[in-house]
Amino acid sequence: MSGELSCPRCGRQEPDSERFCSACGMPLVRAADGEDAASERRRRARRIKPQYTQGELVRVARAQNQSEAELIEDLLLAHGIPSLLRGAVDVVDTLAGGRRDVLVPESAAQAAREALAPHGASAESF
Ligand SMILES: [Zn+2]
Repeated sequence: MSGELSCPRCGRQEPDSERFCSACGMPLVRAADGEDAASERRRRARRIKPQYTQGELVRVARAQNQSEAELIEDLLLAHGIPSLLRGAVDVVDTLAGGRRDVLVPESAAQAAREALAPHGASAESF
């Protein structure tokens, strides 16, 4: 698996150590493998709503593994919500048990929880 992250808004590639796009400040997402996936992701990234990019990052869900996290990420993106997966970057994998926190900007938190709720994902309320 590549450690590359990419910006959901402008598609800029960033190293794994970065969390935000150095060009536009968006939370970075893990780059998909292959050209098709990358362009698909970039195409969908155009749907991101500017009002969902404001505020501190807050956790809206916890995925049990990377695959589940990416499903949540895709679901949120379909709602115009940018998200950031945390876990592999911050915590040694064995300690995290493979779990990933799904973070979104605060302005998108409510919409994200509503988007996740009907799908049985582990959305959390605070
Ligand atoms: Zn960017």
